Amino acid sequence: MQPIGSELYPSWRAALWSEPGLHDRATSPVPSERFLQQIWFHQRLQRDALRTLDGRPLTILHPGFWNHAAGPDFRQAVLQFGDDAPCSGDVELDLRAAAWHQHGHDRNPAYAQVRLHVIWQGTPTNPADAKVPLPTLALADVLDAPLDDLREWLGGEASHNLLTARTGACAPPLEQLPATGLPTLLEQAAFTRLRLKADQLAARARQAGWDQALWEAALGALGYKQNVWPLRRLAELRESLLRDLPRDRAAAPELQARLFGLSGLLPDQLTRRWSTTDAWLRRAWDTWWRWRESAGPAVLPRSLWRFDGLRPANHPQRRLALAAHWLADPDWTARSERWLAKDLADTALRPALLAELQPSEDPFWDHHWTLSSRPMSRPRPLLGEARITDLAMNAILPWLWSRARAGGNSALCTRIEHRYRHWPAAADNALLRLARQRLLAGRPLPRPTQAIHQQGMLQIVRDFCDHANALCDDCRFPELVRPWAAASAASGA
Ligand code: SF4
Repeated sequence: MQPIGSELYPSWRAALWSEPGLHDRATSPVPSERFLQQIWFHQRLQRDALRTLDGRPLTILHPGFWNHAAGPDFRQAVLQFGDDAPCSGDVELDLRAAAWHQHGHDRNPAYAQVRLHVIWQGTPTNPADAKVPLPTLALADVLDAPLDDLREWLGGEASHNLLTARTGACAPPLEQLPATGLPTLLEQAAFTRLRLKADQLAARARQAGWDQALWEAALGALGYKQNVWPLRRLAELRESLLRDLPRDRAAAPELQARLFGLSGLLPDQLTRRWSTTDAWLRRAWDTWWRWRESAGPAVLPRSLWRFDGLRPANHPQRRLALAAHWLADPDWTARSERWLAKDLADTALRPALLAELQPSEDPFWDHHWTLSSRPMSRPRPLLGEARITDLAMNAILPWLWSRARAGGNSALCTRIEHRYRHWPAAADNALLRLARQRLLAGRPLPRPTQAIHQQGMLQIVRDFCDHANALCDDCRFPELVRPWAAASAASGA
């Protein structure tokens, strides 16, 4: 029996994902259809190197919404073929092109809106591949990491089964853990999560460089769930956004206009109610008119964005305003490294990073939530405490750690791990509450609660709950915890 404090959680996870049936780790070089869907869902692709079998460049603006019912695998994707205008449609994934006819998709009206057939392997010279009357993308040669690495990674980031709010089968054994047991377990799960995110960043850095990998991760972390994709797409367009502009903080208003125009979120009507907003809109349109030809077909359709249930502070327009300040700042990447180099008390970690990444004053956006809201009575900064925690957990700390590991700097890795361990907890949210209900029967997380405990909970949900049903059938987590809890109790650990 391993004692508390050893690397127990990673060994549980490794054992779980090496079991046959959970995913196709076995020797087959051809993944299952389910695995292809996971790759597509997470877009673990060399996204700037995609071409259909007939040779046209392909840009995925949104991979679509995973359809777990009958019909195409992904609904309402947004795709751009070559220089054509972006189009919306469904995406079907099969291992081989021939499946399009074999599965009867060509005769099924439910597949009439499919705009892209995604397969594992195919060539334009193969008659079976050439028969499909649709643009076809083969994934085998455009993955962003070796297949085994992706199997490992997707083991943790896989499908999102719906949870229900009943207490899980692991709650009783988790309650039996000694006082130090639960925090230790959560920390180990959280460090697993840090490494998985770092692996993903390293894979992206191999294609696009470290700066771009951080930039894309940071914008993705601003996306607030439903707007991750359009923000990541805008992040990929960083070079064209900066074209003919100096990297200078004074360029932020110009970059705001470019970003708003490119995102499809620049309103074409004045409010006629708020004079400050109308003045901002006139300036933005002046800039955008001059530049829009350079943007060409890269302009995103407004339909890519989701606004349902968003608080004004999380509105994508505020995210774009913030991103423009970061983009204008020649020092932006160095700011995270500078923060890491400072000797800081644990209580100063969050405010110090916030101070590094908070833009200097923005005369318009400090006083307006969105382009349609009334001016605020008191100024609000573009970057808040909740968002800085998401950025730290999902982008900055994994990126710093990934770079330190790539450079073989173990002392720096240790420094980053300390900051990860001591980062203050984020505000509670619906997902964390649900996880606490299932895993801890509603009990609070260990005190003092740190972000690392929350990250650990999320990782357990991903590794175990997401692969079991609401009744916890076939979930191995309780049986992994039980003997460890008993041994820990017997040894008085
Ligand atoms: S699925 Fe597994 S980890 Fe999730 S609540 Fe049930 S027993 Fe616990």
